[in-house]
Amino acid sequence: MRLLVAEDEPLLASQLKAALESAGYVVDVAADGPDALHQGLSEPYDLVVLDLGLPGRDGLSVLRAWRESGRQVPVLILTARDNWHDKVAGIDAGADDYLTKPFHLEELQARVRALLRRAGGHASPEIRCGPLLLDTRQSRLLLDDVPLELTSHEYRVLAYLMMHQGEVVSRSQLVEHIYAQDFDRDSNTIEVFIARLRRKIPSELIQTVRGLGYRLDAVPAP
Ligand code: CA
Repeated sequence: MRLLVAEDEPLLASQLKAALESAGYVVDVAADGPDALHQGLSEPYDLVVLDLGLPGRDGLSVLRAWRESGRQVPVLILTARDNWHDKVAGIDAGADDYLTKPFHLEELQARVRALLRRAGGHASPEIRCGPLLLDTRQSRLLLDDVPLELTSHEYRVLAYLMMHQGEVVSRSQLVEHIYAQDFDRDSNTIEVFIARLRRKIPSELIQTVRGLGYRLDAVPAP
């Protein structure tokens, strides 16, 4: 899952980035409105944390522009304390949830999890696929109730496939959702991660769909 944090206060931005990365997400940061607008239009984020008080172009206007361009990405807005006008305007502009500053990072993480779950059509914080269980609260994957030992990239690939189980996911889609923007991306590494994952979980769970990508599916009962 790849997230955009649009926040101009450097300390808060780095705290948000660190907290979300520790939860297993890849995080890009935009420090002003025009940059946020551009990144949100050009990159396929799974979720955006958007401060409404951004320099250059305010968050509300950025959000409206995304929605007018058809961007459906879940957006969590950050508003100043007691500014209920901002919350109403933000929700009217297409925000999915809001947090009032100051907030606890744990609350932000919980709201992010909930939004990502809902966006993926999952009601529970635990997502199952056959013997696999993705525990989104702990950012871990279990096989037959035993936690899997995964590198951060392996976790991101498998978690993304879990959130999109039953769907064909292309290599480029995986690349876009597991690497940050400034990372040296190489879609060949996806094959390496998939090969490693197939050694750690029952290999038939990840099917190769020739020319299209991969599909994670529970093995039908014999
Ligand atoms: Ca601000």
